[in-house]
Formats: sequence, structure tokens, C-alpha cells
Amino acid sequence: MAQKGEFELIREFFRRPVADAGVRLGIGDDAALLALPVGEELVVTTDTLVAGRHFPDSAAPFDIGWKALAVNLSDLAAMGAQARWVTLALTLPDSDETFLREFARGFFALAEREGVSLVGGDTTRGPLSITVTALGCVPAGLALRRDGARAGDDLYVSGCVGDAGLGLRLELGQWLDELAPLARDTALQRLHRPEPRLALGLALRGMASACLDVSDGLAQDLGHLLAASDVGAELELSALPRSAALADIDSAFADILALTSGDDYELLFTASPEARKAIAALPLACARIGRVTAQAGLRFLRAGVPVEMPVAGFTHF
Ligand SMILES: [Mg+2]
Repeated sequence: MAQKGEFELIREFFRRPVADAGVRLGIGDDAALLALPVGEELVVTTDTLVAGRHFPDSAAPFDIGWKALAVNLSDLAAMGAQARWVTLALTLPDSDETFLREFARGFFALAEREGVSLVGGDTTRGPLSITVTALGCVPAGLALRRDGARAGDDLYVSGCVGDAGLGLRLELGQWLDELAPLARDTALQRLHRPEPRLALGLALRGMASACLDVSDGLAQDLGHLLAASDVGAELELSALPRSAALADIDSAFADILALTSGDDYELLFTASPEARKAIAALPLACARIGRVTAQAGLRFLRAGVPVEMPVAGFTHF
């Protein structure tokens, strides 16, 4: 059988029926034409993943497709946006049919689950790299931003933190023997198939005073939120939500992982203490991990006692 051309492959794997009335024109014209709901603002984010830098060369193509989309949807979640549309720019070393098929399967597994339509794209030849641009909408004035935290607000993080960092350690061949197989699977799943917290982002509209997603590590990302809001915070280490996978790890190192792991893609947010009941009732557990202070800087407590944490400069493994 003759080898299929790149265009043919792209058409075969990436053209899917679009069931979104907001898409006036999708793939096939010079550009997409999208209709925004009345009274809503467009939220736009873009991220590039490069082989060997953002995922190991050994990563499964399905996972690369999933993650390339997930990290962008996570940014929309952090803005409280309804995810709607994406474009995809693929740089490929060659037109490897198996890679493209599996990549597309991973990409669309998440896109279809979240009701997101692919409305445009491009392919070029070169070292493997993937750029996704994600577009969402939010009612005017309701977007979650980083700059709204106020002294006295509570500080929360969704789900669990630290697992993706543990997964990366496992990928590097560390701690393989110390961990039970189930813990290993959890950590690797969190690293390779992050879950964008889109439903939580929507639920936090009008409730969170500031929000961002944890992509570079909780301590570092919290620093961005505090700087944008011109406030500080106290963070209670014993309140950091850790999965059972981290329970097998020495607790001092589990703290470091929870504070510095990139790739967790949980939402970190602040809210007035009046919102505690509503936040406790959210479908996804959100742990109250501290409070916002007028005094600048991030201070760590363990059981209420101030402690030093060596997290400065501990950003990426
Ligand atoms: Mg982000």
C-alpha cells in the first residue's frame, strides 16, 4: 500500500464532525469563524510542548495528545471560562501514521469529553513540538483573575498536589522500589494525563476572589497570585492535600513535592471566609491550606508553628 501523504493523514485523524452552533466556519477555510454568546468575553490561552523538555521522548503518543490539550484547558479552567474551541499546530519530524493516530486519539478523548471543538491547525516539519491555542468564554466581568485576593481571605487548593512530581521522579528511575504498584500508577497517571478542573473553574465564578492553575509548583504559582494581588499568605503544611501515593514517601520530601511539583494542574484560589460552606459543598474536594495576609511574602506553618521550607530555587527537578 502506498504511504499516505501528510495532508491525507491529518484529514483522516483530525477532521471530526463539529456539533457546536458557535462554529460558523471550522477547519477548511482560511480561518475559523466563531460566534461568541451575547454578553460574554473571549478567553484565549496558548501553550507549546516540546519533546524532551515538556514530556520525555518515551511518552506515549496518546498521552502527548491528551496533555497538550489538558494544559491549555487547565488555563481556561483557572479563568473560570467555559472551554469551547481549540487550534492545533503540530511540528513533526516525519509523518508517522501510528504517532498521528494515537496522538489524535488522546487529543480527542479529552476534547470530546469536554465538548471542545478543533477549529483550525497547521503542520510543519521539524523536531516534535505541539502548540495548542484554547478559546473559551465567560460572562463579562466574571472571569477569575490572579489579582483579586484580599487580606483575610482563605487559601484553597483542589484535589491533591505532588503526584505529578512523584510521577516525574519515577520516569527518571527514582523510587521505583519504594512504591507500591498502585501508587506508581497513580503518580504516572497524574503526570501523563492531567485533569483540567473545568467544572470547578465554572463553579468558582463569583465565589473565588483570585485563582490560577498549579503548573509550575504550588509555592511558585502561589507567589504569582500573591504578587498580582499585592498581598502575602500563611500556608499550613499539614493541610496540603496529598494522595495515598505520596503517603509512601518520606513526609519531609512529600512536603517538598507538594509545594514544588509542576504539572499538577489543580486550581489554587482564594475566597472570603463567608464562602466556606459553599466551597465545602463543591463536588471536587478543595482543601483550605492557609490564609491571605496584608504582610507581603509567603510564610509556612506546621501545626500553627512557623517553619522554614527550602522551596526557593527548588522550582523544577
Ligand atoms: Mg496557568
